[in-house]
Amino acid sequence: MQRIGNYVGGEIVPPVNGQWMDNVDPAVGKPYALTPASDKADVDRAVAAAEAAFPAWSATSVEERAAVLMRLGEAIDRRKDQLAMAECIDGGKPITRARDHEIPRVLSNFRYFAAAIQHNHSELYPGANNTLNMILRRPRGVVGLISPWNLPLYLLTWKIAPAIATGNTCVAKPSEVTPMTAHLFAEICREAELPAGVVNIVHGRGAEAGAALINHESIRTVSFTGGTATGRAIASAVAPGFKKLSLELGGKNPTIIFDDAPGAALQASVMAAFANTGQICLCGSRILVQQTIFESFVKSFVQEAEKLRVGDPLDSATQIGALVSHDQLQKSMRYAALAREEGGRILLGGERFRPAAERCREGFFFSPTVVVGLDSKARTCQEEIFGPIVTIAPFRDLDHAIALANDTGYGLSASVWTQNIDKAHRVAGAVDCGTVWINCWLVRDLRVPFGGTKQSGLGREGGDEALRFFTEPKNVCLRVN
Ligand code: NDP
Repeated sequence: MQRIGNYVGGEIVPPVNGQWMDNVDPAVGKPYALTPASDKADVDRAVAAAEAAFPAWSATSVEERAAVLMRLGEAIDRRKDQLAMAECIDGGKPITRARDHEIPRVLSNFRYFAAAIQHNHSELYPGANNTLNMILRRPRGVVGLISPWNLPLYLLTWKIAPAIATGNTCVAKPSEVTPMTAHLFAEICREAELPAGVVNIVHGRGAEAGAALINHESIRTVSFTGGTATGRAIASAVAPGFKKLSLELGGKNPTIIFDDAPGAALQASVMAAFANTGQICLCGSRILVQQTIFESFVKSFVQEAEKLRVGDPLDSATQIGALVSHDQLQKSMRYAALAREEGGRILLGGERFRPAAERCREGFFFSPTVVVGLDSKARTCQEEIFGPIVTIAPFRDLDHAIALANDTGYGLSASVWTQNIDKAHRVAGAVDCGTVWINCWLVRDLRVPFGGTKQSGLGREGGDEALRFFTEPKNVCLRVN
C-alpha cells in the first residue's frame, strides 16, 4: 500500500514514531494508502525547519515570492488531472467536481496571491507638526494552518498561498481523512523549487499533530477551518498565549425563496442542498419558501432531487458521490432517524444508498434526503449535519423569512431568491451572516472577505483580509523638518 509522507525541510519523510493509519477510499469503503500518524516530534521538526527558513524567505522581494507562487501554479496545472483523480478517490467526490471546480481553484489561489502582493500597498498618514505615519506590514513568522477534509487541497492552499505570499513560513496539518493531495502538493513544492522549509506539512490526527501545532510556542498565528466544536477547543487553547487566530467554522445556511423567485431558484437550491454530498460549509441545508408557493415548490424540488445521479465518483455522469467516511455516513443516518423522531416527514431518501457499480457496494453513500414538517427549533433544523439532508419550511412574509433565517446559532451564509431587488436588499441587510448571495449561490470571488458570524467563526480571510491576517502592522511615525 502507498505510504504518504510528511514534508519537512524540503524532504518527504516518514513519521518519527513510525506509526501509520489507514487512508480509506470512501466510495469503496476500504483502505488504499497509509497516512503518517504524526505527533509532537514531527511538529517540532517541522516548526524548526520553518523557523530556519523564515529569515531568508521573509527577506525575499515581492517579485521573487510572486515568481515562486506562479511556479507552484504552473506545477499544479501540469498535474491537474492527477490531483483531480486523487481528490476524487480520497474524498469520494465526483471526478467532475474535483476536475472542473476544486483543482482549478487551487491554481487560482496561487495565481491570485502572486498578483495580489504585487498590487498591495501600505498606508501613509501625513499628520500634524510635519509627521508622517507609515504603516509597515511584516510577516508574522511561522504560521500554523489547519484544514478540513471537505475541499482538501482547495482549502489547504487557500491558507498556504497568502501565508507564504506575505513572507511567512508555515506548518500545515491537513485532515487525516483526506491527506493524499497534500502529499502530492509536497511533491509539487519540490518540483517548483520552493525553498526548503517554507512550507511544511505534517499529517496526523487533530488531537495529536493538530494540538501539538497550535500549542507550539513558536506558532504565534493559527488559521483554522473546520467544525465549530474544534474551533472552540482551539480558541480556548491558544487564547492564553495571545495568538492571532482566524476561525472558519460550520454553517446551517438558509436558502430563502420568495414567490417571485426566478426560475433558476429550483435547480440552484437543489445543488446548494446536495453538492459535494452536502459537505460544503456553504451548503443551503435549510430551505425557506414563501407559503404561497410552498406546496408546488416542494413537489418540484423532490422531482429534481430524485433525478440526481448518485454513484461511483469515478463515473463522469455522477453528480453525487460518497460521504467522506463511515463516521459521516453514520451521522447522516442518525440525523435521518432524528428527523423522523422530531416529527418530520421524509419525502425523499432517508437511507443508505447502494450504487449499481459493484466496486461501490460497500461505499459510504447516502440518498439525497428531503424533510418537511419540522419546527425551526428542531435539532434537525438547528445543527449542522454536513450530509445530503435538507429541510424545507414555509414562511409568511419578509419579516418571517428574516426571523427564521436568523433562528440558528450559525451565521456563515444565506442565499435569497426574488426578482424584487428592494426585498432582496432588505433581507441581505438583516440576515446575520458573513456572505449573502442574491439570485445565485457559491459564487466565490477570491477578492472578497470570507468568514462567518456567531458560531460560524471569527475574523475574515480572502483577498486583502488574508494579506492583513498574515501580517503584523507597525506604525512608524517620522518627523521631518
Ligand atoms: P474538524 O473540526 O473535525 O477538523 C478540522 C481540522 O482540525 C482537521 O485537520 C482535524 O484533524 C483538526 N483538528 C481536530 N481536532 C483538533 C485539535 N484539538 N487541535 C488542532 N486541530 C484539530 O472538521 P472536519 O474535518 O470534520 O470538517 C468539517 C467541518 O468543517 C464542518 O463543520 C464544516 O462546516 C467546516 N468547514 C468550514 C468552512 C468555512 O470556511 N467556514 C469550510 C469548510 C468546512 P483530523 O481530521 O485529523 O481530526
